[in-house]
Amino acid sequence: MTDLSDLPLRDDLRGREPYGAPQLDVPYALNTNENPYPPSEALVKALGAAVTDVAGTLNRYPDRDAVALRADLAAFLDADTPGAGITGDRVWAANGSNEIIQQILQAFGGPGRSVLGFEPSYSMHPIITAVSGTRWINAARDEDFTLEPARAVAAVEEHRPDVVFLTSPNNPTGTSLPLETIEAVLAAAPGMVVIDEAYAEFRRSGTPSALTLLDGRPRLIVTRTMSKAFAMAGTRLGYLAADPAVIDALLLVRLPYHLSAVTQAVARTALAFRDELLGSVEALRRERDEIVGWLRGEGFTVADSDANFVLFGRFPDRRRVWAGLLERGVLIREVGPPEWLRVSVGTPGEMAAFRTALKESL
Ligand SMILES: *Cc1c(COP(=O)(O)O)cnc(C)c1O
Repeated sequence: MTDLSDLPLRDDLRGREPYGAPQLDVPYALNTNENPYPPSEALVKALGAAVTDVAGTLNRYPDRDAVALRADLAAFLDADTPGAGITGDRVWAANGSNEIIQQILQAFGGPGRSVLGFEPSYSMHPIITAVSGTRWINAARDEDFTLEPARAVAAVEEHRPDVVFLTSPNNPTGTSLPLETIEAVLAAAPGMVVIDEAYAEFRRSGTPSALTLLDGRPRLIVTRTMSKAFAMAGTRLGYLAADPAVIDALLLVRLPYHLSAVTQAVARTALAFRDELLGSVEALRRERDEIVGWLRGEGFTVADSDANFVLFGRFPDRRRVWAGLLERGVLIREVGPPEWLRVSVGTPGEMAAFRTALKESL
C-alpha cells in the first residue's frame, strides 16, 4: 500500500491534517454555521429555471470576469451599507470566501512573506496561509476575545506582516471589532488588511461594517459570503469589496473561468430573492439572543455574539460534553480555546433539542 510518506510531497505539507469539521448524518447539525432554512418552493423553481437557461450554453466557457454577478453583488452591498459607494468594479467573486482568501494570499502572500492573525479565529486562515507558502504569525486576542486598538497595533508594528487578517464578527467567538481597531491596524500595517465579514448580516444593530472604510483605502479588503446568512452554502459563492486595483491583482492569480456558468446563474437568482433569503436573519438573531440568555441562566460562560453561533463553556472535558450531545443526535463543534464549545443557531426545534441534550449530557 502506498501512503503519503512514499510520495514526493512538499516538505512543508508533511504531517498536516486536512480541514475536517465532521460531516455526520445526524438529526440536528449545529456545527458549521449554516442557515437552517432551505430555499422556498418558489426559489427552488427559479433556481431550476436559471440552471435550465444556462444548460444550453454549457459548451461555452462562462463569463471569465463574472461581470453581471459582480454588479448584482455590488447592488446588494450598496443596499446593505448605504453610502459605501460599492460598484461592480470594486467587487470580486470566487468559489466561497475560502477561494477569495486563497487568491488574496496568492497575490499578496507567498514564500518569504508573512500573515498576522489574532487567535482564536477562523481555522482556515492559518491553513490557507501555510498552503500558499506564507508564514503564519498568531497574536492572541484579549481574554474576552476582543482586540484593543493599541494591542493590535503593537502586534502589527512588531511583526510588520504583508497581510493582516481581522475577522469580524469573529469565528468561533462571535465577537465584533470596533471600527477604531480596524482603522488603527490600517494606519499601522505596511501591507494588506483583510476584514473577514462572513457573518456581517447577523451583527447586532449599531455595529458598523468595514465597508464604510473602503473609500480611499486601497490596502483594505472586506470579504463576505453567501454561505451563512444568505443560506446558500451549497452554491460556493464568496466575494469581496476593495479598490479596483486589488481586483487587478487578483486577476493575475485566479484560474481562468474559475466561476462556472451554473454557479453564476444560481448566485444571481439567489440575489434576486435576497429579501426572502435574508428574511430568516431576524429570526436567527432572536434565536441567538435567546440561547445566549438561556445558557447564561444555566450558569455557563457565554461570549457575546454578533453571529449565528454561540461559544460557551467552560468545560474541563469538553470532548465528553460534545460526545454526549452527539449521542443524542446533536452535532456541535469542538473548536476554539480548549474549554469551550460552539453551537450554531438553528430553528426553534433544533435549539430545543440542543437544550435538552445539553442538560442530559452534563
Ligand atoms: C464560514 C466562514 C467562511 C466562509 O467560507 P465559504 O468558503 O464562503 O463557505 C469565511 N470566513 C469565516 C470566518 C467563516 O466562518
